[in-house]
Amino acid sequence: MSVLVIAEHREGELREITLEALGAAAKLNAGEVKALVPGSETEFLTRELSLLCSEVIELKDPRLDPPLGEPWLKAILDFCVSEEFQVILLGATSWGMELAPALAESLEAPFAPDVTALEYGENLLKGSRMVYSGKLEAKWQCENASTCVATVRPGAFDPPEPGAEAKIREVAAVLPDDQAVKFLGYLKQAAGDVDITAAKILVSVGRGIGGPENIALAQELADALGGVVSCSRPVADKRWLDKSRQVGTSGQTVKPDIYLALGISGAFQHLAGMQSAKTIIALNKDPKAPIFGVAHYGIVGDILELLPLITEKVAGICAA
Ligand SMILES: Cc1cc2nc3c(=O)[nH]c(=O)nc-3n(C[C@H](O)[C@H](O)[C@H](O)COP(=O)(O)OP(=O)(O)OC[C@H]3O[C@@H](n4cnc5c(N)ncnc54)[C@H](O)[C@@H]3O)c2cc1C
Repeated sequence: MSVLVIAEHREGELREITLEALGAAAKLNAGEVKALVPGSETEFLTRELSLLCSEVIELKDPRLDPPLGEPWLKAILDFCVSEEFQVILLGATSWGMELAPALAESLEAPFAPDVTALEYGENLLKGSRMVYSGKLEAKWQCENASTCVATVRPGAFDPPEPGAEAKIREVAAVLPDDQAVKFLGYLKQAAGDVDITAAKILVSVGRGIGGPENIALAQELADALGGVVSCSRPVADKRWLDKSRQVGTSGQTVKPDIYLALGISGAFQHLAGMQSAKTIIALNKDPKAPIFGVAHYGIVGDILELLPLITEKVAGICAA
């Protein structure tokens, strides 16, 4: 079986989701896992990818540098019909959500969106995804199809372990004669906004923080730890913090090394966005709060009393 992962990159950087899609591909124990990298100046990306798959294919053309659906679809489609792949994986990102269904439709292949688990057995590709805001897990399998296109949910898979260096092949891209959509440029997030998905340490506050005046307590702890403050949905809904900091099914999926959940009950919509964190530490005054069910360490107590003490302790350790 041959699996193709379509690499997502932006402004010269490989998106983490590409590594995670390669991790999903590795779970299939396929004979071949290939990575397709559309763009022109992609040498630094292909070198990184060459340790994580069996072949890297550079689909060369400068018109593929901006992530535009129209030229990417034409070029990727042309490549996919010229070679045979049983599984084609992309990220369930805004870019992947634009490209993958169109690619599946053009290939007349079934499409499995937002997968959180993937396996291959009895000649069938099988997987699952969360539905009804994470309340249910839907299991599916691809039948009577020579190719299946799927998008993988960010944070659901670990990148594969690096292996031997794979060969790198260059292929000329076939592009549409004309493009209806032109790339004008990137709009940067307003200054002060942070990318919580990239943070290694998240100090996350829930409704238990009490009010916007107490957010500073979490910020002080985040500063002492070198982390970033994130939040549950009620905190974003009340505008105590920006929506971009919300973790969960209707916010961001995060996978930091350390996730501190402060005054967060642990509703499934929140857990779905953070339970892959390496270490989860929960502080809650309710010993029966569901967050303790996923936490590696738990403290039962009042966060407003404990936060200044913890920050002082952390700052002392860091200064020593
Ligand atoms: C379609 C849909 C999508 C949703 N998407 C998301 C999402 O993306 N992210 C998300 O987070 N939620 C989401 N929700 C909301 C979710 O269901 C919960 O309502 C929400 O996660 C609860 O947030 P919370 O834990 O901060 O608040 P609460 O559930 O009110 O919990 C507050 C916690 O703080 C504790 N507490 C209170 N005071 C203190 C104190 N002084 N010290 C210590 N502990 C204290 C309490 O014991 C309690 O456990 C969604 C809901 C729906 C319907």
